[in-house]
Amino acid sequence: MVERQVCVVTGASRGIGRGIALDLGRHGASVVVNYNESEEEAQEVVDEINASKGQAMAVQGDVRSLEDMVQMRDEVREEHGGTDVIVNNAGITVDKKFVNMTRDDWDRVIETNLGGMFNATKAFFNDISVSTNGRLINISSVVGQRGNYGQANYATTKSGMFGFTRTLALELAASNSTANCVAMGFTRTDMLRKVDEEVQDKIRGRIPLGRFAEVDDMTGIVRFLASRESGYMTGQIIGVDGGLRG
Ligand code: NAP
Repeated sequence: MVERQVCVVTGASRGIGRGIALDLGRHGASVVVNYNESEEEAQEVVDEINASKGQAMAVQGDVRSLEDMVQMRDEVREEHGGTDVIVNNAGITVDKKFVNMTRDDWDRVIETNLGGMFNATKAFFNDISVSTNGRLINISSVVGQRGNYGQANYATTKSGMFGFTRTLALELAASNSTANCVAMGFTRTDMLRKVDEEVQDKIRGRIPLGRFAEVDDMTGIVRFLASRESGYMTGQIIGVDGGLRG
C-alpha cells in the first residue's frame, strides 16, 4: 500500500519517471513530480494524478544542484511535513564509442546520474530516516550489469548505483528505512528513441522476451518497493529486463 505516502520522483515529467509518478498517484500516494526543463509535461502529470486517487505537486529542480534539491525538500516539508519515499530516476545518456568520448561527455553523464543521486539523497536522507516507512529507490539499468557498446559513461553511472544502494541500505537500517535498486531493461521512452533503429533491432534481438519494455512494465516493482509491504527487503538490485541479463 502506498496510500498517503509522500513520494518524490526525480525526472518525473517524461518517460519512466512520469509512469512511476502516475502509478503511485493512482494508488493514492501524494506525489512530488520533479522536473528540470519540461514544465508543461510535469503539469500534465500533476493534473492527471489530481484527477485520479492521488494528490500531486510539481517542483522544478535540477538534480545537478544540491541547492535545488534542498529547496525542493523544504517545499515538500512545508506542504506535507516530510517525505517517505525518494525515487532517484532522473538520468541522461551521451552515447559515443570510448575512443570518441570526451571528458565533457563523461562529466555530463556522471554529474547528472551519480551527482544527481547524491544530491537528492543528501537532501532527503533525514526525512526518509524519520519516516516510519522510509524508502530510497534508485533507478538503474541492465547496462550497469552487462555494459553496452557506446555507453562507457552511462554504464559506469548505472553500476555505481549498485554500490551506493547497498551502502545506503546499511546506513538507513538503523532507522528501519530501506534502500533498493531496480536494474531496468530497455524501455520505450525518449532515451531509447535516440538510439539508431539498426542498433535498436540488434538489442531487441538479444532480449529473451523478444520486445522492449513499456513504461508500464516498470511501475509495479517501484510501487512495491515504495509500499509498506516491502519493509523487510533492503540492499537489493532487482532486474526487470525481459530476461536480458539471465
Ligand atoms: P527520458 O525519457 O529521457 O526522461 C528523462 C527524465 O529525466 C525527464 O523527465 C527529464 O526531465 C529528467 N531529467 C534529466 N536531467 C535532469 C536534471 N538535471 N534534473 C532533473 N531532471 C532531469 O529517460 P527515461 O528513459 O525515462 O529514463 C529514466 C531513468 O530510467 C534514467 O535514470 C535511466 O537511466 C533509467 N533507465 C532507462 C532505460 C530505458 O531504456 N529507457 C533503461 C534502464 C534504465 P526534464 O525533461 O524536465 O528536464
